[in-house]
Amino acid sequence: MDSYRLVRLILRDRLLKAVIVILLLLHMHISQGIGVGIVCNGTLLSGYDGYAAEIAHFPFGNSRQRCPVCKNYGCVEMELSVSGLLHNNVWHETSESDQVQWEKMAEAIRSGDPAYRDFLRERGKLIGKIFFILIDLFNPQKVFIDGEISDIFEQIRPYTEEVIRKHCFMVRDRILPIQCDRQSSLSMIYGLNHIMCEKWEPLNGCLY
Ligand SMILES: [Zn+2]
Repeated sequence: MDSYRLVRLILRDRLLKAVIVILLLLHMHISQGIGVGIVCNGTLLSGYDGYAAEIAHFPFGNSRQRCPVCKNYGCVEMELSVSGLLHNNVWHETSESDQVQWEKMAEAIRSGDPAYRDFLRERGKLIGKIFFILIDLFNPQKVFIDGEISDIFEQIRPYTEEVIRKHCFMVRDRILPIQCDRQSSLSMIYGLNHIMCEKWEPLNGCLY
Protein backbone atom coordinates (compact mmCIF):
# COMPACT_ATOMS: atom_id res chain seq x y z
CA MET A 1 0.00 0.00 0.00
CA ASP A 2 1.45 3.40 -0.94
CA SER A 3 1.97 5.98 1.78
CA TYR A 4 -0.69 8.39 0.46
CA ARG A 5 -3.33 5.68 0.65
CA LEU A 6 -2.21 4.64 4.13
CA VAL A 7 -2.36 8.21 5.46
CA ARG A 8 -5.72 8.70 3.81
CA LEU A 9 -7.17 5.58 5.39
CA ILE A 10 -5.84 6.45 8.84
CA LEU A 11 -7.23 9.99 8.65
CA ARG A 12 -10.57 8.80 7.34
CA ASP A 13 -10.84 6.19 10.07
CA ARG A 14 -10.11 8.71 12.82
CA LEU A 15 -12.36 11.41 11.44
CA LEU A 16 -15.26 9.10 10.75
CA LYS A 17 -15.08 7.77 14.30
CA ALA A 18 -15.16 11.35 15.60
CA VAL A 19 -18.19 12.21 13.46
CA ILE A 20 -20.10 9.00 14.06
CA VAL A 21 -19.87 9.31 17.85
CA ILE A 22 -21.53 12.73 17.65
CA LEU A 23 -24.47 12.38 15.29
CA LEU A 24 -25.93 15.81 15.78
CA LEU A 25 -23.99 18.88 16.79
CA LEU A 26 -24.30 22.64 16.51
CA HIS A 27 -21.24 24.81 16.08
CA MET A 28 -21.68 28.57 16.29
CA HIS A 29 -18.88 30.81 15.04
CA ILE A 30 -18.71 34.46 16.07
CA SER A 31 -15.97 36.66 14.62
CA GLN A 32 -16.30 39.25 11.84
CA GLY A 33 -19.75 37.77 11.30
CA ILE A 34 -21.90 35.14 12.91
CA GLY A 35 -22.70 31.71 11.51
CA VAL A 36 -23.54 28.18 12.50
CA GLY A 37 -22.64 24.74 11.20
CA ILE A 38 -25.00 21.82 11.86
CA VAL A 39 -23.85 18.22 11.58
CA CYS A 40 -26.93 16.01 11.26
CA ASN A 41 -26.65 12.21 11.24
CA GLY A 42 -22.91 12.61 10.78
CA THR A 43 -23.26 14.87 7.73
CA LEU A 44 -22.92 18.62 7.45
CA LEU A 45 -26.33 20.14 6.75
CA SER A 46 -25.89 21.91 3.43
CA GLY A 47 -29.35 22.90 2.21
CA TYR A 48 -30.64 22.49 -1.33
CA ASP A 49 -27.94 24.65 -2.91
CA GLY A 50 -25.02 23.96 -0.58
CA TYR A 51 -25.81 26.74 1.87
CA ALA A 52 -27.86 26.28 5.03
CA ALA A 53 -28.49 27.55 8.54
CA GLU A 54 -28.12 31.30 8.10
CA ILE A 55 -28.58 32.96 11.49
CA ALA A 56 -26.98 36.39 10.98
CA HIS A 57 -30.28 38.06 10.10
CA PHE A 58 -32.46 36.73 12.87
CA PRO A 59 -34.28 39.91 13.99
CA PHE A 60 -33.70 39.61 17.76
CA GLY A 61 -31.28 42.52 18.08
CA ASN A 62 -31.69 46.26 18.42
CA SER A 63 -34.81 47.15 16.43
CA ARG A 64 -33.49 50.67 15.81
CA GLN A 65 -30.37 49.48 13.99
CA ARG A 66 -30.63 48.91 10.25
CA CYS A 67 -28.64 46.05 8.75
CA PRO A 68 -26.40 47.17 5.85
CA VAL A 69 -26.68 43.73 4.23
CA CYS A 70 -30.40 42.90 4.18
CA LYS A 71 -31.66 46.45 4.96
CA ASN A 72 -33.99 45.18 7.68
CA TYR A 73 -33.81 46.20 11.33
CA GLY A 74 -32.54 44.27 14.35
CA CYS A 75 -30.30 41.64 12.73
CA VAL A 76 -28.26 39.85 15.39
CA GLU A 77 -25.04 40.08 13.40
CA MET A 78 -24.96 43.85 13.94
CA GLU A 79 -24.55 43.26 17.68
CA LEU A 80 -22.60 40.01 17.77
CA SER A 81 -19.92 40.48 15.11
CA VAL A 82 -16.60 41.79 16.45
CA SER A 83 -17.36 45.31 15.20
CA GLY A 84 -20.85 45.04 16.69
CA LEU A 85 -19.46 43.87 20.03
CA LEU A 86 -17.03 46.79 20.08
CA HIS A 87 -19.98 49.15 19.71
CA ASN A 88 -21.26 49.44 23.27
CA ASN A 89 -21.67 51.94 26.08
CA VAL A 90 -18.35 51.15 27.76
CA TRP A 91 -15.69 50.70 25.12
CA HIS A 92 -14.55 53.90 23.39
CA GLU A 93 -13.94 52.99 19.77
CA THR A 94 -10.67 54.22 18.27
CA SER A 95 -9.03 54.33 14.84
CA GLU A 96 -7.12 51.11 15.60
CA SER A 97 -8.13 47.94 13.79
CA ASP A 98 -11.07 45.96 15.12
CA GLN A 99 -8.71 43.14 16.03
CA VAL A 100 -6.45 45.37 18.15
CA GLN A 101 -9.44 46.98 19.85
CA TRP A 102 -11.03 43.62 20.44
CA GLU A 103 -7.95 42.25 22.16
CA LYS A 104 -7.85 45.26 24.48
CA MET A 105 -11.56 45.12 25.30
CA ALA A 106 -11.46 41.36 25.83
CA GLU A 107 -8.54 41.79 28.22
CA ALA A 108 -10.51 44.38 30.22
CA ILE A 109 -13.51 42.03 30.38
CA ARG A 110 -11.39 39.05 31.45
CA SER A 111 -9.79 41.16 34.17
CA GLY A 112 -13.26 41.59 35.68
CA ASP A 113 -14.04 45.23 34.87
CA PRO A 114 -17.56 45.62 36.35
CA ALA A 115 -18.46 48.31 33.81
CA TYR A 116 -19.06 45.55 31.27
CA ARG A 117 -21.63 43.68 33.33
CA ASP A 118 -24.70 45.01 31.47
CA PHE A 119 -22.97 44.50 28.13
CA LEU A 120 -22.18 40.87 28.96
CA ARG A 121 -25.73 40.22 30.15
CA GLU A 122 -27.32 41.77 27.06
CA ARG A 123 -25.11 40.07 24.47
CA GLY A 124 -25.06 36.80 26.41
CA LYS A 125 -28.85 36.66 26.37
CA LEU A 126 -28.88 37.44 22.68
CA ILE A 127 -26.59 34.48 21.99
CA GLY A 128 -28.84 32.42 24.26
CA LYS A 129 -31.91 33.28 22.15
CA ILE A 130 -30.21 32.02 19.00
CA PHE A 131 -29.06 28.83 20.71
CA PHE A 132 -32.52 28.32 22.20
CA ILE A 133 -34.15 28.21 18.77
CA LEU A 134 -31.45 26.01 17.24
CA ILE A 135 -31.43 23.59 20.19
CA ASP A 136 -35.21 23.18 20.17
CA LEU A 137 -35.18 22.67 16.40
CA PHE A 138 -32.37 20.12 16.25
CA ASN A 139 -32.06 18.65 19.76
CA PRO A 140 -28.27 18.29 19.43
CA GLN A 141 -25.94 16.04 21.40
CA LYS A 142 -23.25 18.70 21.58
CA VAL A 143 -23.11 22.46 21.20
CA PHE A 144 -19.91 24.37 20.46
CA ILE A 145 -19.03 28.03 20.12
CA ASP A 146 -15.82 29.51 18.77
CA GLY A 147 -14.24 32.50 17.06
CA GLU A 148 -13.26 35.76 18.77
CA ILE A 149 -16.22 35.44 21.14
CA SER A 150 -14.36 32.58 22.83
CA ASP A 151 -11.99 35.22 24.33
CA ILE A 152 -14.82 36.39 26.61
CA PHE A 153 -17.25 33.49 26.50
CA GLU A 154 -16.62 32.37 30.07
CA GLN A 155 -17.82 35.83 31.18
CA ILE A 156 -20.86 35.64 28.86
CA ARG A 157 -21.68 31.98 29.54
CA PRO A 158 -23.92 32.42 32.64
CA TYR A 159 -26.34 34.68 30.74
CA THR A 160 -26.42 32.49 27.63
CA GLU A 161 -26.98 29.29 29.61
CA GLU A 162 -29.66 31.00 31.72
CA VAL A 163 -31.75 31.58 28.57
CA ILE A 164 -31.23 27.98 27.44
CA ARG A 165 -32.19 26.57 30.84
CA LYS A 166 -35.27 28.77 31.01
CA HIS A 167 -36.63 28.34 27.49
CA CYS A 168 -35.29 25.19 25.83
CA PHE A 169 -37.96 22.53 25.91
CA MET A 170 -35.78 19.86 24.30
CA VAL A 171 -33.16 19.92 27.05
CA ARG A 172 -35.47 20.33 30.02
CA ASP A 173 -34.42 16.91 31.36
CA ARG A 174 -30.71 17.06 30.64
CA ILE A 175 -27.75 19.37 30.94
CA LEU A 176 -26.35 20.62 27.65
CA PRO A 177 -23.26 22.69 28.40
CA ILE A 178 -21.92 24.89 25.63
CA GLN A 179 -18.39 23.81 24.80
CA CYS A 180 -16.17 26.77 24.03
CA ASP A 181 -13.58 25.92 21.39
CA ARG A 182 -10.51 28.13 21.95
CA GLN A 183 -8.68 26.27 19.14
CA SER A 184 -11.04 27.04 16.28
CA SER A 185 -8.21 27.31 13.73
CA LEU A 186 -7.21 23.74 14.55
CA SER A 187 -10.84 22.61 14.31
CA MET A 188 -11.03 24.12 10.82
CA ILE A 189 -7.91 22.17 9.80
CA TYR A 190 -9.59 18.97 11.01
CA GLY A 191 -12.68 19.89 9.02
CA LEU A 192 -10.65 20.55 5.89
CA ASN A 193 -8.84 17.24 6.37
CA HIS A 194 -12.21 15.54 6.59
CA ILE A 195 -13.31 17.05 3.29
CA MET A 196 -9.98 16.10 1.69
CA CYS A 197 -10.37 12.50 2.85
CA GLU A 198 -13.90 12.36 1.50
CA LYS A 199 -13.12 13.92 -1.86
CA TRP A 200 -9.48 13.13 -2.62
CA GLU A 201 -8.92 10.50 -5.28
CA PRO A 202 -5.14 10.58 -5.82
CA LEU A 203 -5.13 7.48 -8.02
CA ASN A 204 -7.38 9.39 -10.44
CA GLY A 205 -4.99 12.33 -10.35
CA CYS A 206 -7.63 14.77 -9.21
CA LEU A 207 -8.98 16.26 -6.01
CA TYR A 208 -12.65 15.63 -6.76
ZN1 LIG B 1 -29.66 41.72 8.07
